[in-house]
Amino acid sequence: MLAILHPDTQLDSPEYKHTLEFLKNLPGVTLRVHEIQGAQKKLTEIYLLGDTKSLSKEEIAALPAVERVIRISDDYRILGRHHDEQRQTGFTYNGVHFDQDNLHVFAGLCAVDNAEHVDIMMRALAEHGQVCTRMGAYKPRTNPYSFQGHGKACLPYVFENAGKHGIKVVAMEITHESHIEEIDTCLEKLGRPTGVMLQVGTRNTQNFELLKAIGRQREYPVLLKRGFGITLNESLNAAEYLASEGNANVIFCLRGMKTEAGLPHRNMVDFAHVPTVKRLTRMPVCVDPSHSVGNRDLAPDGISDVMHATAQGVIAGANMVLVDFHPKPEKALVDGPQALLMDELPYFLEDISLCHDTWRKREQIYQRAKG
Ligand code: PEP
Ligand code: MN
Repeated sequence: MLAILHPDTQLDSPEYKHTLEFLKNLPGVTLRVHEIQGAQKKLTEIYLLGDTKSLSKEEIAALPAVERVIRISDDYRILGRHHDEQRQTGFTYNGVHFDQDNLHVFAGLCAVDNAEHVDIMMRALAEHGQVCTRMGAYKPRTNPYSFQGHGKACLPYVFENAGKHGIKVVAMEITHESHIEEIDTCLEKLGRPTGVMLQVGTRNTQNFELLKAIGRQREYPVLLKRGFGITLNESLNAAEYLASEGNANVIFCLRGMKTEAGLPHRNMVDFAHVPTVKRLTRMPVCVDPSHSVGNRDLAPDGISDVMHATAQGVIAGANMVLVDFHPKPEKALVDGPQALLMDELPYFLEDISLCHDTWRKREQIYQRAKG
């Protein structure tokens, strides 16, 4: 059961103390308090865990600090929807708002190779009004002898350059909890010129200790990739690990499933699950067409498979696109064959914006149909 308190309830107010005292004395029930800082107001939620079946919803709703009460199922307790349309979706980070209605593009380098390519990428994004990017510093590679990313050595020039071009959020995969500290120390030293969204890669979706460590910090939001060989339910539970440790600022990313049935694509594109994840949870949903499709091949209509897949995700209501670009894909140290070319950026952005507008119009059709 979940008790949502009146917005901006002070934790030292008599209303709160009285409410908490009552809830604490319920037999067989443990409490977990979550505070959510929204753009305007602070929201406090109290999760009642354990033997809650016999509790009276009305009695708890009548407590002085409580606004309303929701019965929640065991699955995705914090991130789930639980048939409640009023709970907020999304969060604001470093001035950028993410929710289940809007859309942000994170175009950038799969792996940072040098400062010049970082600069070309960031400059192009700024020229096209973009405030987000992806930059891989810590790369999980199949082959131990492949380039593993520049790690913390590249962080200073990546963050400085992002700041120089007005980039507010850099999505960056981490593969070990020590990377959080490396990122944080570097940002702090530079005076926080930009922000970071910590990315959990598909190989680490069920690395529970990493998830718990990332979930314990509240500074950085998280982009969690769906596991490429597990069920959707298992991946959504992985997201809930982050929230259960305290960080519910999570975006869920579809990136294709590993099966030979997907050939000639690198993975089987799974973007039909965009609306499914939005129905089951309150997380904004991202699509990664680059790691799904895995090549830059064009269809006879002149549109690449990567762009077609992106369009399919966005027209179904995706809220974020994570996509590889590179100034010289033939020289890229990781995933060159799937990187889009810099001169494709404006067309790609135009296509995405068309698809997002179309999704909004589709929504209106069905709202009319409902009457
Ligand atoms: C990536 O986005 O760079 C990446 C490695 O993706 P995934 O974890 O989906 O393979
Ligand atoms: Mn990659």
